[in-house]
Amino acid sequence: MSLTDEVKLALASIRKGMAAGRLAHAYLVVGNPRGNAGAFVDEMLSLLYCSASGDRPCRECSGCRRIFQHAHPDLIRVEPRKKSRTIQKEQVQQIQQHVFQTSLEGGWKSVVLVYAERLQEMAANKLLKTLEEPPDRCLFLLLSENPEFLLPTIVSRCQRVVLPGEASGENAALKASVVEMLTAAPESGVMGSMACARRMLDLLKDIRAQAEEDEKSGVETEILEKMGQMDEMDHPGEIGRRDVDPFIRGEMADAVLARVEGKYRELRTILLRWMLFWYRDVLLCVCGLETDMLYFQEEAPRIREMAAGLTYRRALANIRIIEEMKDQLEQSLPEPMVLERGLIRLNYSSE
Ligand SMILES: [Zn+2]
Repeated sequence: MSLTDEVKLALASIRKGMAAGRLAHAYLVVGNPRGNAGAFVDEMLSLLYCSASGDRPCRECSGCRRIFQHAHPDLIRVEPRKKSRTIQKEQVQQIQQHVFQTSLEGGWKSVVLVYAERLQEMAANKLLKTLEEPPDRCLFLLLSENPEFLLPTIVSRCQRVVLPGEASGENAALKASVVEMLTAAPESGVMGSMACARRMLDLLKDIRAQAEEDEKSGVETEILEKMGQMDEMDHPGEIGRRDVDPFIRGEMADAVLARVEGKYRELRTILLRWMLFWYRDVLLCVCGLETDMLYFQEEAPRIREMAAGLTYRRALANIRIIEEMKDQLEQSLPEPMVLERGLIRLNYSSE
């Protein structure tokens, strides 16, 4: 499997840290556990367990092989349980047993938590205790796409590795939407800006709908399980029929809203990041740089076309505008205002 530049970059810094004996005992790896973040974790662990003397990881020694097969005896990998989609207290107990046992091979012990944001509250508190006083030569790797749902006390115990920008799954879908939005019916001047603004607002609506769909069912299952009703509930679609305490129902609704909002913001950030990459590509073309450096390689002709109509100053201004919008949204300024001000200023041509 080929690694993305982001993963390679992050690994280079881990390598340096390892060589200098400065490995943190816990890392929070932010990204897709089935994509960049997962690949990064496998690579990092193989560096730790590879027994080759030359180039490491060799990918051939028994250490490497077992890491890539997720079958190393000194590694424990914990994922959310299928039914509840949460990581539970008993699973954290298994982690604790694992890390306090002597290493089977005399080296490091490691723990991988996939979708760490799905730790249940009690499980999270339990894990926190171990993170606060970890045994020697023990490495914790927490993978999370939504680190905002982790306990801040856990986050503060971890060194962060952020691996955004990969084009897989919903991310790839957003990348395609950005292309569509920016290239549909290219009108020039103010009309073009207004049309693009409208398309972006539509796209954000779709994103919100997607966030709602993604988060609602998960949260409901989780809360019902907390209430001990899960066993009777073989049909999640019938949730509304049960007599649920109105207070708990209220809490449930709040939890759903919070998750939807979190997911929406995350998707919006990815969207803006792709827009930023698009305009960075345009700027590269304005500067006459090689097109094999483009993020939107397959859209090179369209990007060149857009670049042909722009001066360097205008192309650079576009990047600043998007960065500004991204910052303002992160500071929670009202979205309609930020978008209206930003999108209308984007330049599609230098007329
Ligand atoms: Zn090896």
